[in-house]
Amino acid sequence: MSRTRDYRRQQYAQRKKRFRKVFEGWYTTPEDLEDFITPFRLGFTANTPHSCSCYMCGNPRKWWLERTRQELRSELDEKEYAQVLQLVEGPVSKSGK
Ligand SMILES: [Zn+2]
Repeated sequence: MSRTRDYRRQQYAQRKKRFRKVFEGWYTTPEDLEDFITPFRLGFTANTPHSCSCYMCGNPRKWWLERTRQELRSELDEKEYAQVLQLVEGPVSKSGK
């Protein structure tokens, strides 16, 4: 099935409908709900479900200075590479010969 413009528009409408239901679950009184649900908010949420970047949902690298998978792997590769070099070439002599 090809992803045509029609399909994407339908998905977008469904997302907005779904988020309206989610928002309805958050608010108990209809007045609060009407204040909260605006067309802008629905559209924004449907386009960017992960709309927050606080310390709980944000990038762990930014908030907790965690290293990425690629960085961890690269670090491991360097250590392994040094070990392999030592096995192949033998211990490095201090005179350089
Ligand atoms: Zn957040």
